[in-house]
Amino acid sequence: MTVLLRDLLLGLRDLRLGNGPVIVHSSLKSFGQVEGGAGTVVNALGSVFATVMVPTFTYKAMVTPLTGPDNNAITYGSGAGLNRAAEFFTPRMPADPLMGIIPETLRRYPHASRSSHPIQSFAGINAERFLAAQTLTAHLAPIGLLEQADGWAVLMGVDHTVNTSIHYAEKLAGRKQFVRWALTPKGVVECPGFPGCSAGFQAIAPEVEKYTRRVQIGNAVIQAVPLKMLLRAVIARLKKDPLALLCQQQDCERCNQIRKL
Ligand SMILES: [Zn+2]
Repeated sequence: MTVLLRDLLLGLRDLRLGNGPVIVHSSLKSFGQVEGGAGTVVNALGSVFATVMVPTFTYKAMVTPLTGPDNNAITYGSGAGLNRAAEFFTPRMPADPLMGIIPETLRRYPHASRSSHPIQSFAGINAERFLAAQTLTAHLAPIGLLEQADGWAVLMGVDHTVNTSIHYAEKLAGRKQFVRWALTPKGVVECPGFPGCSAGFQAIAPEVEKYTRRVQIGNAVIQAVPLKMLLRAVIARLKKDPLALLCQQQDCERCNQIRKL
């Protein structure tokens, strides 16, 4: 079965999110075959939702310095090889393939805009107001504005382990943030507020289940969670258990650092 534009339009409308702006995380493969590929999905998102935002992070621009602050879950001086392969961030740098092909396709959409954080930029359609809120020290501020505008996190064939909005809630709850560095045409830029690891985020799912809307399009399950309820649930969970939502990988530097503190 091939997914058509019509299937996407009907399915996304079925979520009944009204005029709420959305931040979308996605896997094109999860749908099965889509006629027209990622471009069709982006067209559908732009048609159904008033505002669409996607992460267009650029890990290729990251460099590891020789020294830096303590307790930063990084091995200083270890990145020689990666540093040599690092590229200068420019607003035209493609989104990292880890985000999936849909964000990169949206970034190149005729009416799309993109913010300019050298590691954690977002792109969007009708999202200028939200993107403009981002600064080097408040890179998740656009998510705060989406929340205030009664926005939604939309997960297309992916789960909460890629849900960037949970990082914003972690920050609000006072969880440790890290410092990373990016290569830019102006030199190496320090990027504070770099979030922890998201591999354990699926553990929040039961707490937001009653607010979660779901449709199926092709083989993909599409979930929409209101940001207000999501942020509230994460903050409450971290207040109760400061080690909640960490991952179980023994060698996870960032989760281990948070446990140590
Ligand atoms: Zn981890």
